[in-house]
Amino acid sequence: MVNNWLNIIQDSFLPPTCILCNSPGYNRWDICYDCYSQLPWAQHQCPRCAIPLPETSPINLPCGECLHQSPAFDHTIAVFKHQHAIRYLITQLKFNAQYKHARLLGLLLAEALSEYPELPQAIIPMPLHPNRFRDRGFNQSIEIAKIVAKRLQIPLLLNHYIRQRDSPHQTHLTRAERRKNVRNSFMQVKPVPLQHIAIVDDVMTTGSTLHELAQVLKKSGIQKVDAWVCARAIWKRNG
Ligand SMILES: [Zn+2]
Ligand SMILES: [Zn+2]
Repeated sequence: MVNNWLNIIQDSFLPPTCILCNSPGYNRWDICYDCYSQLPWAQHQCPRCAIPLPETSPINLPCGECLHQSPAFDHTIAVFKHQHAIRYLITQLKFNAQYKHARLLGLLLAEALSEYPELPQAIIPMPLHPNRFRDRGFNQSIEIAKIVAKRLQIPLLLNHYIRQRDSPHQTHLTRAERRKNVRNSFMQVKPVPLQHIAIVDDVMTTGSTLHELAQVLKKSGIQKVDAWVCARAIWKRNG
């Protein structure tokens, strides 16, 4: 909480300064132009799951994995690769409560989405299990989603879906094990009479958690679900 107030005070009174190198901020953001241009921008991704594809692959064609077994979400926007400065910003936000990183990540995500042709009717941040929320004191996806929602003027839905099962950490699991691991993780608690929703999350690894939530959204009557994530991590097939 103290950290949050310090961040708010800094945001209000100090000129924007690059979080990464302390130079003056670009575009009133907490990043300078040099660091901004060197961010690990994602390129050539599967439109469905945002996995990086070879530069020669046709645009708009889903990857083999999505053709074989489509995820429940329809489209993914992943602005960055989960590397270098972006990895640092996300890790420091999550484990060191650096709220101003959420502000910067949210602004970068909103900027990438500003030209998006079909904005959703509402945004749902990836819910965190109450145990994890208690340990961390905040949900990083809510912090990022708040900025995106405000910037794009899209309503933010909190508490309509909850995480009812605290799945074990899944760093070392295969894709199939991850899907199993997150099964029945989410539950709808309030009706959402909408057709198009975007789920916001910090990082997507295999997309299993996003798939599971998207499935619950679809079962509750939502027809189109987008996944908006700051970064796409490369999941290593290790077993
Ligand atoms: Zn910088
Ligand atoms: Zn794909």
